[in-house]
Amino acid sequence: MANEINPSNFIRNIVIEDLENGKHKEIITRFPPEPNGYLHIGHAKSILLNFGLAKEFRGKTHLRFDDTNPVKEDTEYVESIKEDVKWLGGNWDELFFASNYFDEMYARAVLLIKKGLAYVCDLTPEQAKEYRGTLTKPGVDSPYRTRSAHENLDLFERMKKGEFKDGEKVLRAKIDMTSPNINMRDPIIYRISHSTHHNTGDKWCLYPMYDFAHPLEDAIEGITHSICTLEFEDHRPLYDWVVRECEMDCTPRQIEFARLNITNTVMSKRKLKQLVDEKVVDGWDDPRMPTISGLRRRGCTPEALKNFCTAIGVSKANSIVDSQMLDYFIREDLMLKAPLTMGVINPLKLVITNYPENESEMIELENNAKDETQGKRLVPFSRELYIEKEDFMENPPKKYFRLFPGNEVRLKGAYFVKCTDVIKDENGEVVEVHCTYDPETKSGSGFTGRKVKGTIHWVDAKTCVPAEFRLYEPLILDDAPENEGKHFLEQINPNSMEILQGFIEPTAFKTAKPQDKFQMVRNGFFNVDTRYSTDEKLVFNRIVSLKSSFKLS
Ligand code: ATP
Ligand code: MG
Repeated sequence: MANEINPSNFIRNIVIEDLENGKHKEIITRFPPEPNGYLHIGHAKSILLNFGLAKEFRGKTHLRFDDTNPVKEDTEYVESIKEDVKWLGGNWDELFFASNYFDEMYARAVLLIKKGLAYVCDLTPEQAKEYRGTLTKPGVDSPYRTRSAHENLDLFERMKKGEFKDGEKVLRAKIDMTSPNINMRDPIIYRISHSTHHNTGDKWCLYPMYDFAHPLEDAIEGITHSICTLEFEDHRPLYDWVVRECEMDCTPRQIEFARLNITNTVMSKRKLKQLVDEKVVDGWDDPRMPTISGLRRRGCTPEALKNFCTAIGVSKANSIVDSQMLDYFIREDLMLKAPLTMGVINPLKLVITNYPENESEMIELENNAKDETQGKRLVPFSRELYIEKEDFMENPPKKYFRLFPGNEVRLKGAYFVKCTDVIKDENGEVVEVHCTYDPETKSGSGFTGRKVKGTIHWVDAKTCVPAEFRLYEPLILDDAPENEGKHFLEQINPNSMEILQGFIEPTAFKTAKPQDKFQMVRNGFFNVDTRYSTDEKLVFNRIVSLKSSFKLS
């Protein structure tokens, strides 16, 4: 992973302490996604934290698929998750599936039953809710709580054999129905689900609940620091109870941190799946999605994501980060990496009437304004060019320094041109701008005769190549007051994608491959799309614009 700064945070401090006082010789962390969707930028924060700590302290990290729920999981998700973790630089030391521990988990549940710490309960979900109590009212013991260990063992085995229907019986931990922590009021640890699992097939019709399975998975793998998000804080007593009462050899420590939230997007796999299923977006890797695959397709780099996550830090306080902050780090990263190219997104023809008709020349342009070592390239130039529509105005306001009738500007890297005439179509729209050029004014010729206030970019009409430009805006308009409190599907930005047809210089076309990134003069940073680009036509995703008013505080 690039940029190895390891900023201090409370989790890192815990690790340092545990290593210094000899509690652990080596740390083992894990990233435990449930394969029920593609990973999003929130997961990236967790990946970078877990892999980052292990790397810094020469420990290990496991990638573990937390696949204890047979219904929602899919191997497509497993593959995408592996790809995303790798892309972020996460090299896992071990790859595990929680479902491989089903036998052991079952055995631990049997142990709990034998110890009188778990029982089979027949309450319906509605009744169970009644008995559970509320934050202000203690729960009430289930009438099945006093079943003998013998009876429980028999019923549990029959549950495993498939003698009961879904929901008919559950196995519950016997803890304390009056606990102020509702998680401790005899939580369900096994439920019946007659469904096929992507890994274990039809071997099981009995599946462990997250709060039972997760601590066991961690303990089985010898995880030292089990890092999770804040909503699990109230589950920690149960986590510790399971590890202790199941008599696991290893005692992992659960540590919670605040999840990453970002403006103008949604960040839960359930909602992201809805956007995909309802075709609001073009798949999980749509460049507008906050998924890792979407960010990658848009053109975000792992380095930018890492620097962003480093800057937001790890804390216990929930907060919401401005989405422009990520854009800032993308820009910072691409500034030096993405070569300059000229692309015209909204083309307007410009004819240099005094330039010889069948001639052309090569103009030398730098590849990176901030880094000379990236060299220069030659771009063809001739009598007919395309410029950006917005670089010409027939009736400009004051302080418009680009092209207008009678005004002179520089064509980037080339000559001064002066607008002499405009050609309009039947609707009165300008379709062509006529100019004259002054051969004396060529860039680099040392010409000092006069100055112009504007420089505009261009492509040569004869040699340029058609290209598609996809411009993005935030997917969700959650910052508009009228959207407050609305369902996220009602907050979709109708203008989140604009597709425009323009041109790029031939130099870029010859070399560009999917995922190549370019800095286009004034228009922003662009990435060659992996899905729609072809050998005939490049499709560019705008990653970010060149500038923003956003300031890193
Ligand atoms: P979601 O609610 O978005 O679907 P999840 O927590 O259900 O996410 P998991 O696959 O269970 O997704 O998460 C894998 C790991 O990623 C967990 O350790 C979880 O805490 C962490 N994680 C998930 N979302 C975020 C987030 N927004 N910020 C930081 N870490 C997160
Ligand atoms: Mg989840």
